[in-house]
Amino acid sequence: MKIINPATEDVLADVEPAGRGETDRAVARAKAAFPAWRDVAPGDRARLLRRFADLVDRHAEELAELELANCGHTIGNARWEAGNVRDVLHYYAGAPERDFGRQIPVAGGVDITFHEPLGVVAVIVPWNFPMVIMTWGVAPALAAGNTVVVKPAEWTPLTAMRLAALALEAGLPEGVLQVLPGAGEVAGARLVEHPDVRKIVFTGSTEVGKQIAATAARTVKRVTLELGGKSANIVFADADLERAAASAPGAVFDNSGQDCCARSRVLVERPVYEEFLERLERAVAAVVVGDPRDPGTDMGPLISADHRDRVASYVTGTPRFQGTCPAGKGFWFPPTVLTHAALDERAFTEEIFGPVVGVVPFDDEAHAVRIANDTPYGLSGSIWTENVGRALRVARAVEAGNLSVNSHSSVRYWTPFGGYKESGLGRELGPDALAAFTETKNVFIAH
Ligand code: NAD
Repeated sequence: MKIINPATEDVLADVEPAGRGETDRAVARAKAAFPAWRDVAPGDRARLLRRFADLVDRHAEELAELELANCGHTIGNARWEAGNVRDVLHYYAGAPERDFGRQIPVAGGVDITFHEPLGVVAVIVPWNFPMVIMTWGVAPALAAGNTVVVKPAEWTPLTAMRLAALALEAGLPEGVLQVLPGAGEVAGARLVEHPDVRKIVFTGSTEVGKQIAATAARTVKRVTLELGGKSANIVFADADLERAAASAPGAVFDNSGQDCCARSRVLVERPVYEEFLERLERAVAAVVVGDPRDPGTDMGPLISADHRDRVASYVTGTPRFQGTCPAGKGFWFPPTVLTHAALDERAFTEEIFGPVVGVVPFDDEAHAVRIANDTPYGLSGSIWTENVGRALRVARAVEAGNLSVNSHSSVRYWTPFGGYKESGLGRELGPDALAAFTETKNVFIAH
């Protein structure tokens, strides 16, 4: 697999993809490593994870630069991502000693529950936030005592491979965390069907997620699915319009729109619709698209030429307005704002996964909620209003897993993250993540 820098089109590396046989060998190594890893004393497992986190911290700049080169992430974002990997590892390093069960009152004896690891867990990762998304699965899985095989996306395996090496250096035993670069249809598909893999954590497209759920059903494999999104940013007339407009580009164009949580549908209450668009136009004009290494850059390139073509296919007529982007080498696309004559236009209903946003007016609260929910997705969203009652009503009414009021934040490693409807199944991060990597065993002991 030729690994390309999307900002320059230079070849960064040549990586040998794992075939079916290599995938089976990785699963066998993970299975063999499991009993000893499960039996590592909780405090020792915690210490190893903390050492891993500390090594990530020491190599944070290197990891950030690798992600910048492989994905075109801006240097600011890439540094945040390396810090997030460290923090997620530290957070779940606190879990092994706290992964306790319960004692439940019963007649004639004692009833206790245990949380036991599943065995081999496979984490299948997309290309948009490679090291971060990998770690959201890996850290709680390891903390709970599972062994892990990671299948990074075809285009972006470099930080995953580096993290696996750092894990070994930190003292994690061989076979506990392996990274297996390879094709989705080969290595990924084999992990999903493999009888010795007990759980799949998949982040990626809804289409592939559905296939994975169907295949996993054959072996009753546990699955966590983090899938696509088409999230709504709902702006009421009583909102702080300047803040809402100034922050809207970041909420959809961050990471060049290649973000499952992108607020790619902006719904604006009709009396302030035109005023909002004027302010948004100024904010979009100020978005700096260019060299991701420059700290002043807001947005880098798209991941590949194919993906750029796919994004461009959604912009058929004349956009309402567009920002600028570099010409020449690199997979560039300008921030683009569309308005829609009809709500069933493809660009307003499908996940574009690029820097394209659709803006539409709404009449009242019920209308806004109806538009926001008129999608198979349900990942995130934002609500802008100064009316706290309305903020809570709308937050409860929108069918999505991660909502923010007067802000666009979706992700904190210590709060749960995941989707409603076809945006996913299960939750990652937060205090309960270990539940997705353990079985509950109930034991009754007669007096
Ligand atoms: P994708 O579904 O094409 O690929 C994701 C991963 O699955 C890759 O590693 C790929 O190799 C692998 N894969 C592909 N086919 C497979 C198969 N048949 N069996 C097993 N594995 C297979 O997605 P992508 O294009 O890499 O990522 C973009 C998508 O990911 C978008 O839809 C985006 O919304 C979604 N995403 C969701 C979240 C979330 O948390 N909800 C986060 C990031 C990205």
